[in-house]
Amino acid sequence: MEKPFKSLLNVMEGIDQPGQINADALKKLKAGKRHAHTVKELTDGIMAGNRTLLSKAITLVESSLPAHQDQAQQIIGACLQSTKSKIENRNSKIVDQSIRIGITGVPGVGKSTFIEALGKHLTAKGHKLAVLAIDPSSARSKGSILGDKTRMEELAVDPDAFIRPSPAAGSLGGVARKTRETIILCEAAGFDVIFVETVGVGQSETTVHSMVDFFLLLMLAGAGDELQGIKRGIIEMADAIVINKADGDNIGKARIARVEYANALHLFPPPDSGWVPVADICSARSGLGIDHVWDLVMEHRKITGDNGFFHRRRMEQNRQVFRETIEAGLQHHFFHQEEISQVMATLEQGIMNGLVNPYQAANDLLEKYFRER
Ligand code: GDP
Repeated sequence: MEKPFKSLLNVMEGIDQPGQINADALKKLKAGKRHAHTVKELTDGIMAGNRTLLSKAITLVESSLPAHQDQAQQIIGACLQSTKSKIENRNSKIVDQSIRIGITGVPGVGKSTFIEALGKHLTAKGHKLAVLAIDPSSARSKGSILGDKTRMEELAVDPDAFIRPSPAAGSLGGVARKTRETIILCEAAGFDVIFVETVGVGQSETTVHSMVDFFLLLMLAGAGDELQGIKRGIIEMADAIVINKADGDNIGKARIARVEYANALHLFPPPDSGWVPVADICSARSGLGIDHVWDLVMEHRKITGDNGFFHRRRMEQNRQVFRETIEAGLQHHFFHQEEISQVMATLEQGIMNGLVNPYQAANDLLEKYFRER
């Protein structure tokens, strides 16, 4: 039997046919899926605080496609300009309006619980908070700790908070670059507090430190530094060490640990910031001390704002970004030259066979590269 109209279902005779699909609606749905926003739409959306468009723009930032990168750079440029003019228009003495806070600590120390507690405290005070993460391992282990959907349940539905898991790029440098750019977009979208979280197990703390104004190290009482996998260098970078889980039977131990860390911090030479790093306790679960942690951040902001360190540090970070971007660009260009990769493969073979001097080979190859530019 010839069907009277197109149907989604294969219906049997004698049964009423279901309604026809609305062809127009279907067309719109398909078109909508494919609709790529223009740079202007995305930029305007970000400035208007539209979170969907902000997310889309971040996806462009995170993409490795050259066309996306091109658009991302235009958006970043516009966002930087907008944030700058907003500050200038306010004619404020404070040059930088947002505050960027790095949060680190070993898995299980309570980072997400802490971020949820402090985050709720901040949004209740009228702040807009963006939570970003740096986890270079997330590309490999799909079930990344920082990408876990069940974390920060309340913040995740808070209209004044925006949570973005770590970009799934391979190298730490790559992940860091994308996170730095994401910070710029979030600030242009009106987020005035930015948390950058990382798992305290290695190199990524240094990277986070290089993009924030305040670096917070979460610790546990009763476990040695070695046990917590925290290196001396990380402790030295901290603006505050906060011992979490100061609740129940643990409060006494947390207090003792605070004194120990305070003593340890005093052994370091005074930092250029004019701020003396502090040790404190909190309970992300009970809320004890959470507001005090924020007071510390604000105190640090005031001191470093007044003495000019806050601004200087950001400018220094920008200079670093400038250099790193050049380095990354040069590397990318070099390694993507067809003839270079071919010659490299041959030379590497020779090196592996002990026939080629690696220094000489590297110099020759670089010379060839520069000659042909
Ligand atoms: P993360 O891996 O550092 O993000 O740690 P989580 O926030 O996931 O916390 C790890 C475990 O510690 C969870 O079971 C939390 O409920 C618990 N936890 C976090 N903060 C506290 C706290 O202040 N007190 C207590 N007693 N438990 C906490």
